[in-house]
Amino acid sequence: MTVKTRVAPSPTGDPHVGTAYVALMNYLFAKQHGGTFILRIEDTDRARSTLESEQVILKALTWMGLSWSEGPDVGGPNGPYRQSERSDIYAKYADQLLADGHAFRCFCTPERLDALRARQSSEGQPPRYDGRCLHVPAAEAEARVAAGEPHVLRMKVPSEGVCVFNDMARGDIEIPWDSVDMQVLMKSDGFPTYHLANVVDDHLMGITHVLRGEEWIPSAPKHQLLYRYFGWDMPQLFHLPLLRNPDKSKLSKRKNPTSVLFYERMGYLPEALTNFLGLSAVSQADGDELMDFATLQSRFDVSNISLGGPIFDISKLDWLNGRWLREVLSPEGFRAAVNAWITPAYLNEVADMAQSRVTRLSDLGPATSFLFAGRLEPSLATLLDGKLDQPTLNRALNLASIGFEREADWTQAAIEGVLRTVAEMTGAKFKDLVRHMFIVMTGKPQSLPLFRSMELMGRDIARERMRESIAVLGGASAKEVKAWTADLDKHLKARAAEAAAEPAVES
Ligand code: GLU
Repeated sequence: MTVKTRVAPSPTGDPHVGTAYVALMNYLFAKQHGGTFILRIEDTDRARSTLESEQVILKALTWMGLSWSEGPDVGGPNGPYRQSERSDIYAKYADQLLADGHAFRCFCTPERLDALRARQSSEGQPPRYDGRCLHVPAAEAEARVAAGEPHVLRMKVPSEGVCVFNDMARGDIEIPWDSVDMQVLMKSDGFPTYHLANVVDDHLMGITHVLRGEEWIPSAPKHQLLYRYFGWDMPQLFHLPLLRNPDKSKLSKRKNPTSVLFYERMGYLPEALTNFLGLSAVSQADGDELMDFATLQSRFDVSNISLGGPIFDISKLDWLNGRWLREVLSPEGFRAAVNAWITPAYLNEVADMAQSRVTRLSDLGPATSFLFAGRLEPSLATLLDGKLDQPTLNRALNLASIGFEREADWTQAAIEGVLRTVAEMTGAKFKDLVRHMFIVMTGKPQSLPLFRSMELMGRDIARERMRESIAVLGGASAKEVKAWTADLDKHLKARAAEAAAEPAVES
């Protein structure tokens, strides 16, 4: 059997280091067995998936040194490799499940399902579909479909017994069937859910081994059942431990930067990041931890992966990156790294922005240095050099951070919009808030145009500067963040309603 693995990212945001880690594990596993590695885009969530996100994910994985023999960009014999382009395929398999009696149409309204969930949660029960539509007679279901009634397709699951499936790292895992929900397979918009699309594609694309995050363990029974319904062999599963913060909590944006783009903008080498992520799967008992791709590949062994979860320890990444820059790169290699980091195009953007602010060209260094830096490590006194007091500024920066995450596009207009909203919510004058933002983003109360600077430095660096300043100001508890998020959302909703209610301006 030729080994074939895949990475199957959902293009719903920035390229996450967790995705890079899973991709690297699948890549190394395939190569170690003389097999192939492919990439598939799982964009069945039409509301959240974007082509831009797909593009940056592909770019980030390529930057990491990974390549795939089949994928949306390179094609291949099992395409298309974007699930949104495979609707006909899923419809055919969904019909088959229905015809074979393994699935049923469900006409329950979202209101009924909400009420059901609320009742179950008040009774301390896990949320589960109660099976009402299992009993709709076939002829009636067809008539309701013909009449255009919205519906979904759900899979049937056994009501008793235990599902046993094998995990390469954990051995047999048992999950009682009565804890497995009657999963929706086809949504009312005609798109499949992850579960159906994932199983159909892994089978049709000839995937033999699935290395994926451990958060998918609860989905394995549903997948096993689908493989059985279709009469297909299930790939071997290896659920990878999640990357963790040094305090062992799940790696999250709030505590650590999680986007590969951040590490690129901070000036980490892709070789160092790959080395760092790969260390969790090689025996470190012998030899240097500094490893190039070929060494990682030759020393890769999934049995070295500790199920406790690899710690994403930035100080270790720093140590490795420094060694890569100083000891491994040749002078030519170092020059190439610098040129890839400060591209002529970026320098031109900086020049365009700075032109109106300089007296001598030699002002450029001090005026623009914040655009070539990572963290600025501001002191409390520096941050408070303005009109806002500490609690107000802390709340304002937290609100702004949440607001920035809400924005799909990282543009000057979006950045300014968020800050205006925050000023309104905190009662601060916009100009006073902006002065503090200058300090957070550039280190000084006045500098180059703020919104353009933030756009240019990119969302990831801006996010990190917000994070470090918030930490200096005292930070926020999870409870506060929750309350502020709700506040901001309420405010944004009210503003959107106001805008919608405004009479159209006559032309
Ligand atoms: N699309 C899923 C994700 O984004 C893939 C899960 C899997 O590998 O089965 O994590």
